[in-house]
Amino acid sequence: MARSASYQCPHCSSGMSIRSSRSVHALLRNIYLQCNNYHCSFSAAAILEITHEISPSAKPNPEVKLQTIKELTERKAANDENMENNENG
Ligand SMILES: [Zn+2]
Repeated sequence: MARSASYQCPHCSSGMSIRSSRSVHALLRNIYLQCNNYHCSFSAAAILEITHEISPSAKPNPEVKLQTIKELTERKAANDENMENNENG
């Protein structure tokens, strides 16, 4: 059984619940969180974004174009060589 994501309140460290969410597009969702601690009651908005593929879908959506983790790490390695002077500054 899948387990839902858990979020920690940045103020009191209690758990936070997702009160509502809204799809922006297939890879991006706005979520609205509320702290479970009655004495804190912090609420906030957050963004959940699917950033890259770990394992391909057996039913791929042709409109979804995601980089694989391999492509991301190869690109980062190439950038590290080219951007060496900028990253250390
Ligand atoms: Zn809290």
